[in-house]
Amino acid sequence: MSAENKLQFLIEDKLLDADLKRIAEKVLEEERISFEEGVILFEKGELGYLGTLANYIREKRHGDYTYFNRNFHIEPTNVCVYDCKFCSYSRLIKQRDEGWEMDVDGMMDIVRKYDDEPVTEVHITGGVVPKQNLEFYASFFRRSKEHRPDLHIKALTPVEYYYIFKKAKLSHYEGMKYMNEAGLDSMPGGGAEIFHPEIREQIAADKCNAEQWLDIHEQAHKLGMRSNATMLYGHIEGFHHRIDHMERLRQLQDKTGGFQAFIPLKFRNKDNQMSHVPEVSVIEDLRNYAISRIYMDNFDHIKAYWAMISRDTAQLSLAFGVDDIDGTLDDTTKIYSMAGSEEQNPAMSTQQLVELIRHVGRHPIERDTLYKVITDYKDVEFEGTVKPKYYPLPVLENNHTTN
Ligand code: SF4
Repeated sequence: MSAENKLQFLIEDKLLDADLKRIAEKVLEEERISFEEGVILFEKGELGYLGTLANYIREKRHGDYTYFNRNFHIEPTNVCVYDCKFCSYSRLIKQRDEGWEMDVDGMMDIVRKYDDEPVTEVHITGGVVPKQNLEFYASFFRRSKEHRPDLHIKALTPVEYYYIFKKAKLSHYEGMKYMNEAGLDSMPGGGAEIFHPEIREQIAADKCNAEQWLDIHEQAHKLGMRSNATMLYGHIEGFHHRIDHMERLRQLQDKTGGFQAFIPLKFRNKDNQMSHVPEVSVIEDLRNYAISRIYMDNFDHIKAYWAMISRDTAQLSLAFGVDDIDGTLDDTTKIYSMAGSEEQNPAMSTQQLVELIRHVGRHPIERDTLYKVITDYKDVEFEGTVKPKYYPLPVLENNHTTN
């Protein structure tokens, strides 16, 4: 049965709750759902219902295409002037002996390690320290571009930029322009956490607030740069805080159109100040992906970081609105492993990523950062014997049928 037929079948179900029926009809008619309806989805939507709506939207936009890229991370430091309660990764300035702090030469050594590799993107994020200032990053961007102009630099979040620009006495626009001219190509989506002050002030009180985060993205979009947006969910927030977060992003996207992907990030509770807060279940992860796909109607892509939620859940997420599972990573990030992810050394070869996607019946597409197709892997055969590591999940077998 096609995704559209499944949705129509669901709408005709006489036992379906009236609110959920109205929302399903809106999805079929491509009408935007309201804030209140978003909250209703969290309160009443069970997994099968949400998956049907989200998969309909996902297949209408992307068919079976599932995107990934070839990238590596640089994390210049895990020392941080801030003290976010959920952070398992950073060390306070007074504990800096336990952390690491790179210089620009050290960052360039990492870039040079990939000279003969067909990677397309370097993703840079980490803590915030005074000496990694405007000139530090601008000089890295310049050197990286001189060395390898085609390597896309996706770097830092408004958390770093807000701190750096304030110290340099630059407006958000002036600062972003300076970074863009030095070589910055786009911005990842981190640092958003939960925008609503009721929650933000409890978990991330001292870093940039929602308005500052959104304004820095807006200035980047004005300069023609693209960016992503995240949401840290599954801790002390309520459902209305999640919808409030998505609503603020949806409004900015209406204004600028500069966001590419929305990336829900699961709160992990290992080794942080919120270790007493239990993690949500995989069912809640999938519900959250699906509602994100339904609510964020002006975002092209919903992305799941396989390194954060595990390979199995990443496969499942492809039936709940997700169309992008991020990159090969090459074991270059510690953010997920230090927070308690099942993936302690996150790296996948292109072949492994392609197989992971194929094994749930989707169509693997290697993209660049801006979603230009690099390689369509539909019919690509790999040399040598391919020993499957992941097997088709029976629950998904019917979910990718497009006839
Ligand atoms: S989440 Fe980011 S800003 Fe907050 S303490 Fe950790 S590294 Fe610093």
